[in-house]
Amino acid sequence: MSGYEEISRCNRCGFCQSVCPTYLHSLDEVQVARGRIYLVKLLLEGKYDFTKDEGVAEKVDECLLCGACTAACPSSVKTDEVMVAARNDFATNRGLKLFQKLVYRGLLPYKDRLEKVTALLKVYEKSGARGLLYGKALRRALDKLVYFDSFLPDKLSKPARAGLDSVIRPTGKAKAKIAYFLGCASNVFWAQTVRRSLAYLSARGVEIHLPPTTCCGEPHRSSGDLEETRILGLKNSPLIFNADYDFIVTDCSTCAKALSRYDEFVGADSREGERVRAFLPKVLDLNTFAVEKLGIIGENLKPTSFSRVTYHDPCHAVRGLGIREAPRAILKAIPNLEFTELDGADTCCGGAGSYGFSHPEMSGRMAASKTLKIAQSGANLLSTSCPACALQLGAGLKRASRRLAIAHPVELLFESANLAPLKT
Ligand code: SF4
Ligand code: SF4
Repeated sequence: MSGYEEISRCNRCGFCQSVCPTYLHSLDEVQVARGRIYLVKLLLEGKYDFTKDEGVAEKVDECLLCGACTAACPSSVKTDEVMVAARNDFATNRGLKLFQKLVYRGLLPYKDRLEKVTALLKVYEKSGARGLLYGKALRRALDKLVYFDSFLPDKLSKPARAGLDSVIRPTGKAKAKIAYFLGCASNVFWAQTVRRSLAYLSARGVEIHLPPTTCCGEPHRSSGDLEETRILGLKNSPLIFNADYDFIVTDCSTCAKALSRYDEFVGADSREGERVRAFLPKVLDLNTFAVEKLGIIGENLKPTSFSRVTYHDPCHAVRGLGIREAPRAILKAIPNLEFTELDGADTCCGGAGSYGFSHPEMSGRMAASKTLKIAQSGANLLSTSCPACALQLGAGLKRASRRLAIAHPVELLFESANLAPLKT
């Protein structure tokens, strides 16, 4: 299957060792691109069995798909594609894992179910149990529960989509008409960020359409469930890839990366794949859209309550889409806000979709080292452009007892422009 052809291009030079986060945190050869590729080669040669070898499946699952190895590799070997191909073969031969069945297939494709889960989490929040978890004695006993709780935002709000019209008209004449792709995590865990970003776009003359899309399918693709990836791709593509829209915009870097290759999601050689391909240049992440399509961003901005900001680059933005400057341009445009570059800003935070849940130990180590660097930056605001990174970094900060506001760059523009929230 496609992806495996990358294996033969690895010359085993080992350059990937210096950048692979899982290797740097484990110093284990089987946790680096070279070792992972070799392992998959052995699988394909029949030295291991796709239907049986649990340990090998685990090693394949330990890759973050962060792309750091590809960026450093002299042959640009796409290790992430090899891992997805192997995960797909494991899924085909052994069936989906429980998490894939329950969350990826049972929850993400149905936004009403996901929103109901958030309602249940709200009951948990109101019960007061969260406060108890962080007490010292119980904390020791319930370390694992604390770990998982730390991913939840301090305050859960209603889903971003709730109460919003499917079309948000701009104030004044429309400069552009966009389909806003609202990802699952943004809808339920980044609702305030989404609403503020939409308010900013509307104030800047953008007519926003919120089509009833479902999960972009990237969690399914990453975990090797290519069948469901295609099903979700085919549900979403007619809703967003059509002549009605000037651009397809999303606040989530992972969704942006997924949508930018949606022809592959729906079947690159299929008729729908061919149709979708013509629209792919219209896919933009929110930062790029704000900077490149809305023009001057520094106009009428006022100082915010923050004095120093730093930025974490999501893997899907920086290596997936080559976005580095746009978010920084926004942050630097806010008056009286000092921008400080984060040491290792583009190193994976260890969030990687559901990696924090499937590999808590490795993911926790990566969050801890990132958290330390954030603290050393002296910033009182952390900015990033992916809800999964925001959850992972928020969790790392919480576990290190450091409190720091986290915001999307465009959310900060909303605050700096002193705009009113959207009416719902
Ligand atoms: S840097 Fe590239 S070619 Fe070298 S060992 Fe790693 S994956 Fe293989
Ligand atoms: S994708 Fe990231 S975690 Fe996986 S081998 Fe490459 S650098 Fe390591």
